[in-house]
Amino acid sequence: MTDEVWNTERLHDHFAQSLRVSEMYYDSKTEHQRLKVFQNGTFGRILTLDDVVQTTEGDNFIYHEMLTHVPILAHGAAKRVLIIGGGDGGIAREVLKHASVEHVTMVEIDAGVVDFSKEYLPMLSQGAFDDARLNLVINDGAVFMKETEDKFDVIIVDSTDPIGPGEVLFTDTFYGHAARALTEDGIIVTQNGVPFMQGDELTNTMRAFQALFADATCYLATIPTYVGGPMALGWGSHSTKARAVDLATLESRFTAAGLTPDYYTPEVHKAAFALPGYVKKLIP
Ligand code: SAM
Repeated sequence: MTDEVWNTERLHDHFAQSLRVSEMYYDSKTEHQRLKVFQNGTFGRILTLDDVVQTTEGDNFIYHEMLTHVPILAHGAAKRVLIIGGGDGGIAREVLKHASVEHVTMVEIDAGVVDFSKEYLPMLSQGAFDDARLNLVINDGAVFMKETEDKFDVIIVDSTDPIGPGEVLFTDTFYGHAARALTEDGIIVTQNGVPFMQGDELTNTMRAFQALFADATCYLATIPTYVGGPMALGWGSHSTKARAVDLATLESRFTAAGLTPDYYTPEVHKAAFALPGYVKKLIP
C-alpha cells in the first residue's frame, strides 16, 4: 500500500486528520497559501489551504447552509449582505438563493482561491460568481472592514482558522469595525472553530462580542471534516430580536423563501442555539 497518497491536516498539536487522495487535481502555492484540490472516496472533491480542509463537495452544505440561512431568515428582510473570505463561493451560492437579498459584497484576500474554485470546484459556487447582485472585492477583509462606510444587514465571516491571513479576522479591532458596519438590527455570524479542539477561539470571540453587541452567543453545526464535534458559529447583533424569532415565523419565512436545503430546517435553526455545558463554559 506504499503508493497510497494521503493529505494530512495538522491543525492541532496532538491530533491529525488524514484523507486519502485518489486523484490530485491541483497542488501549488498562491501568493498567500498552499492550495490543493483533490478527490477523496468519501467526500468527493476537497479544497485544502496549507493542508487544512476548507471545504468538501460532500459535506459543505451543512456549513454553508447554517452560516447563511440562520442569520438571513432570523433577520427576515436582509437586503445587503457582506461575506468576508468565502473564496470557494459556497456562502455566496446560499446567500443568492434569497430573492430578498439585493446586494452581496464578498471580500476575499486570495484571488487564487476564487479562480481555482471556479475551475476545479464549480459545484461549490454553482454560478454565484456570475450573479449580477455579487460584487467580488479582492482585499484583506480586515482592511475593507476598517475602511468601509457601508452598512450591512448580515455579515458572514467565512474565514480560515486564526493562523496565517485569517488571523486578523479574529481580532477585537476587526470585530469593532464589523459592529460599526452593521445596521441596527443587523447580524454578524463567524466561523469559530470546533470548541472541543479550539476552545480559546470561541472564548476570545465571545468576549469581544459581549463588549460590542446586545446579543452575543454562538450556535452549533456538526460538519464531518471539521473534526472534534460540533463547530461553533459566532452570533452577534445590536438587537435581541433576531435570535428571539419564534418557530412559526421562521417556518413562514422559510416557506416564502422557497429554499430546499439538505441540512437547514427551522427546527434545526432553533435547536442549534441550545448549547451543551462544555460550550457554555467557554463563553465568559
Ligand atoms: N469554512 C472553511 C473552514 O472553516 O475551514 C473556510 C472556508 S475558506 C473559503 C476561507 C477563505 O478565507 C479562504 O478563501 C481564504 O483565502 C480567506 N481569507 C483568509 N484570510 C482572509 C482575510 N484576511 N481577508 C479575506 N479573506 C481571507
